[in-house]
Amino acid sequence: MIAINTKKEAEKRHTALSDIKSVNNQILIGDTPIESIAHIVGKTPFYVYDKSRLKQRIESLRKHLPKQLKIHYAIKANPMPGLVHTVAPWVDGFDLASHHEMLTALSTDIPAQHISIAGPGKSDIELKAAIAAGVTINIESLGEMQRVVSFANTLNTEARTALRINPNFNVKGSGMVMGGAPTQFGIDVDQLDAVVSTASNAAKIIGIHIYSGSQNLNHDSLCATFDATFELASTVIQQYGLKLKHFNMGGGLGIPYFLDDQPLNLEMIGKHLEGNIKRWKTQWSDTEVIMELGRYMVAECGLYVCRVIEKKTSKGQTFLVTDGGLHHHLAATGNFGQVIRRNYPVSVANRVESEHRESVSIVGPLCTPLDILGKKVNLPVADVGDYIAIHQSGAYGLTASPNLFLSHPEPGEILI
Ligand SMILES: *Cc1c(COP(=O)(O)O)cnc(C)c1O
Repeated sequence: MIAINTKKEAEKRHTALSDIKSVNNQILIGDTPIESIAHIVGKTPFYVYDKSRLKQRIESLRKHLPKQLKIHYAIKANPMPGLVHTVAPWVDGFDLASHHEMLTALSTDIPAQHISIAGPGKSDIELKAAIAAGVTINIESLGEMQRVVSFANTLNTEARTALRINPNFNVKGSGMVMGGAPTQFGIDVDQLDAVVSTASNAAKIIGIHIYSGSQNLNHDSLCATFDATFELASTVIQQYGLKLKHFNMGGGLGIPYFLDDQPLNLEMIGKHLEGNIKRWKTQWSDTEVIMELGRYMVAECGLYVCRVIEKKTSKGQTFLVTDGGLHHHLAATGNFGQVIRRNYPVSVANRVESEHRESVSIVGPLCTPLDILGKKVNLPVADVGDYIAIHQSGAYGLTASPNLFLSHPEPGEILI
């Protein structure tokens, strides 16, 4: 009993679950109870994204981060076209990871000059499309710069390029390190000479992009990375005498997924960045500073909701077998870059206020032991037909999952 109480207390402390709104036992999305959402979608499982929370999230970034800092949305975190259109008026630009994302971005009112594309293996089609559209290309290798120069000449259109630099420092505390080591991302500092001298009037360098990692919840490490990033950008600008329109300083702000994760203090991060930007603007007043964020904007605004199909026990453990699983939400099963599997915050979305609880494992319908959405979670007692919600699911959900695996139906998706 004591163990259960302690766990229950711990779960209440989980920030992701502590600010759930509910009425008559049901989670509310905006003002709509979860069962009504299920009827609107017309099926389970589904992803639901909360527009008002999305707006609050971006407002809070605007409130705490320096006014002069431009904020871009990294579409790969959640490329749902409706969501991208909703976010467009609230952000200063987009960052893309594919041609398809480019088409979504260009269908919004964000002008092409505030859109950039990154990725270590951009195809010829992607590069030509970016040049033709006026989208900035974050150059990740000498070969890519050579291709861009050649396409800009044949298309007779100026290409906008930014040097994506692989820094010599690396980020501690980042969930996904993307720099500071041998990597396919960006240009090593000692290879910049060759890339800069390959640029031409047809493919001008108008920006610097330094992206060191994702999902960082460690304030000190984030700020140390920002400091080093600003310093590296200044050094490169001076060394090559660059005249830049922008400096994309990356992002990497993490969100709390697991029980012991502490959310970042955005106000403190904002104060720190205030110093960085102030120093930057005294030297490079015409060069805008951009922060690009994906999950920090969208992850907490989304739930993945599935329904209990069977309740069974096996050797003393209770299992809720649901219609949702790894094929829709790989990250929640711990198979998207987690070293040790930990539970995402989970709730019984139509029994949230119930005090009658038990320990259950929540699994999906797939014939693989990897299909676990929640292992030994203390939840209100649920039964067949109840709704299970996986929280913090607005980023890297549907599109980061192997939808075709086992050929089950696709989930619904709704923004409301
Ligand atoms: C993935 C990625 C992002 C977004 O990362 P989040 O953790 O979702 O904020 C931003 N920029 C680049 C270059 C990326 O690869």
